[in-house]
Amino acid sequence: MSSVSSNRAPIGVIGTGYVGLVTAAGFAALGSDVYCVDIDAEKIAGLRAGRVPIWEPGLAELIAEHRERLHFSTDLGAALEHARLLFVAVGTPPTYSGDADLSAVHAVVGAMPPSDRHALVMKSTVPVGTGESIERVFAEQGKGFRYVSCPEFLKEGSAVKDFLEPDRVVIGDSGDWAGDAVEALYAPLDAPIVRTDVKSAEMVKLASNAFLATKISFINEIANVCEETGADVVEVARGMGLDDRIGPKFLQAGIGFGGSCFPKDVTALKQLAGNSGYHFQLLNAVIEVNELQKRRVIAKLQKHLGSLVGKEIALLGLAFKPNTDDMREASSLVLSSRLQGAGARVRVYDPVAEEEARKLIRGVVFAPAATEAVAGADAIVLVTEWPEFRELDLAAAVQSMRGTLLVDGRNFIDPEAARAAGFVYEAIGRPSPHGAR
Ligand code: NAD
Repeated sequence: MSSVSSNRAPIGVIGTGYVGLVTAAGFAALGSDVYCVDIDAEKIAGLRAGRVPIWEPGLAELIAEHRERLHFSTDLGAALEHARLLFVAVGTPPTYSGDADLSAVHAVVGAMPPSDRHALVMKSTVPVGTGESIERVFAEQGKGFRYVSCPEFLKEGSAVKDFLEPDRVVIGDSGDWAGDAVEALYAPLDAPIVRTDVKSAEMVKLASNAFLATKISFINEIANVCEETGADVVEVARGMGLDDRIGPKFLQAGIGFGGSCFPKDVTALKQLAGNSGYHFQLLNAVIEVNELQKRRVIAKLQKHLGSLVGKEIALLGLAFKPNTDDMREASSLVLSSRLQGAGARVRVYDPVAEEEARKLIRGVVFAPAATEAVAGADAIVLVTEWPEFRELDLAAAVQSMRGTLLVDGRNFIDPEAARAAGFVYEAIGRPSPHGAR
């Protein structure tokens, strides 16, 4: 960040979820007054009282530090009065068909008054063509309400850092004051700025997530072949990742990707292609590989335990990844229901996601600590690589169990340490003394 000014343009942020709150706090930290709007009255009341509704490292502190520049309301009035740029960060969840549900986006567009001095800046992930149809709606109002696509690339768990140090900022617009105003807002971050047209900006977001998801499904398939052939996917990824055309990131094999973005955005791009008459074959495979990957753990458990009926299985970690309480599309959701379907009794522990998980997972026992989840279990499945699981006293854990099996769904625990402690240790794509899957 090169400079922070207290004299920067005020902005509006519509939708105060993961993206909206981080965007609001980030721009407040850069010196803007930020007028936040959400339809969730309880959330707004909490934010006004200083309660941050999500668990994201550094966010509560940033909001507290810039409290005087952050304004929260369920009403658009103050945002429209004070700000020209209105950032939209409402949810775009998948519909049954896999297309993005744009009802919240349409509600926001419908609430905008005719105006020559405002612009909507779309942070929400939307299908290519959304901006064009919104621009058409604004044109029909006969006023010059502007539209800018500015897709968000933050990662939950490091969202504040990602806002302050983005790899790039993509701004798609039709070439007038609004795109320049967005660029000026981001200028203090000294990030590469990609100025482009609206459709290309929309596609950058979808293509980026689809590429990352493809990389994960690719290494997961390599892991599955490693299991059949005796190679070690961790060694393979190390060797591949040093090639700078490939790079080491997103080469960690595991039990599949989840979260609120990858599954939905990959499906949305596949649907978008299909709706436009193109069959995106590769993405079908990426999605299918990911679904099957979540279930491979079941076969690993059965290899050692036989039938799972009546077996006690401890899941360590529930959130879709560490450092977040987000449970959307988490692998633990599929796993816990598959295990119960196979007759197992499931106990679970997550350092921060329990409250969210209770809304989505039924029939399991929530333990207050990892040690309590594993005591008496026939097997442990490590689902989310929370750092605290590396600190687990493995010898004490195995002593407290009824069985000795540890299935490491994230290749997170040191195999030698686990085996030395007395565990039968199974990982993803790593050699097992007990033979292939
Ligand atoms: P979220 O569900 O956490 O938050 C959405 C918020 O919008 C909620 O607080 C909801 O009450 C509010 N809202 C819904 N309709 C509204 C309306 N008409 N007016 C005002 N507020 C309204 O969602 P999120 O995870 O922050 O994602 C938002 C968008 O950003 C999505 O399109 C998502 O794909 C995209 N995105 C998310 C991430 C991520 O990591 N979460 C990263 C990049 C992009």
